[in-house]
Amino acid sequence: MKNVNGYEIIQVFEEWAPKKLAMEGDPIGLHIGQLNRPVDTVLVTLDVNETVVDEAIERGATLIIAHHPPLFRPAKHIWTDTPQGRMIEKCIKHDLSVYAAHTNLDIANGGVNDLLAEKLGLTQLKIIERTSVESGEEFGLGRVGILSSKMTLDQFACYVKEKLEVPAVRMVGDKDRLIQKVGVLGGDGNKYIYAAKRAGADVLVTGDLYYHVAQDAEAVDLCVVDPGHNVEKVMIRGVAEKMTAQCENRQYNVTFLQSQINTEPFTFV
Ligand SMILES: [Zn+2]
Repeated sequence: MKNVNGYEIIQVFEEWAPKKLAMEGDPIGLHIGQLNRPVDTVLVTLDVNETVVDEAIERGATLIIAHHPPLFRPAKHIWTDTPQGRMIEKCIKHDLSVYAAHTNLDIANGGVNDLLAEKLGLTQLKIIERTSVESGEEFGLGRVGILSSKMTLDQFACYVKEKLEVPAVRMVGDKDRLIQKVGVLGGDGNKYIYAAKRAGADVLVTGDLYYHVAQDAEAVDLCVVDPGHNVEKVMIRGVAEKMTAQCENRQYNVTFLQSQINTEPFTFV
């Protein structure tokens, strides 16, 4: 087994989800710390907050791979009596680095959207919105695919709850409408309802749906099921398993841990 540093691990990761796949202006990459030091344990998480940083320190990780960039907006100051400042301070004090892969991981083959489509049992997958073509291969946001059997919107909403492991969903559309072609776009898909409709989806599964966007979807006869933003947690297992396999092939001495911290801020009553 070969001991490796952060660069070598991120190089493996970026062969799968290269930075160039990301949407313009998305602050991906290394956020805190440095890659030029040895790493034998990596924690994979959807979000980075102080509790996740505590978990990383406790479980011996020195690198975090996160989906949501912790410094999404540029920091004007780092005040260590605020939650974000304390989080950054802890990372630096414990030589813990944080790397974010956001829209590049949404878009990558086998990334967040493919993982969600797989959980929903969709086949014959196509991209909802193409973002680039690299050496003849298409890349883009969202996936549309076919369910193995038709079901009503009502039944589909229950199916989504079960498959994506959420206690509740919101839905837009006639509950008796038959669903077979399903679009899925992890995170906030408000901008993609027309693209999903053009891709032929009967329903779009996406999070953070706005009131007026829900009305727009209704007006073009597109059903929507909103299971929330936190369903992107599928990336925790997906990234950890893929990176474990890739690093084993290279005989790298590194372990990928899956964060156990629930970062869903909502509860349903
Ligand atoms: Zn997200």
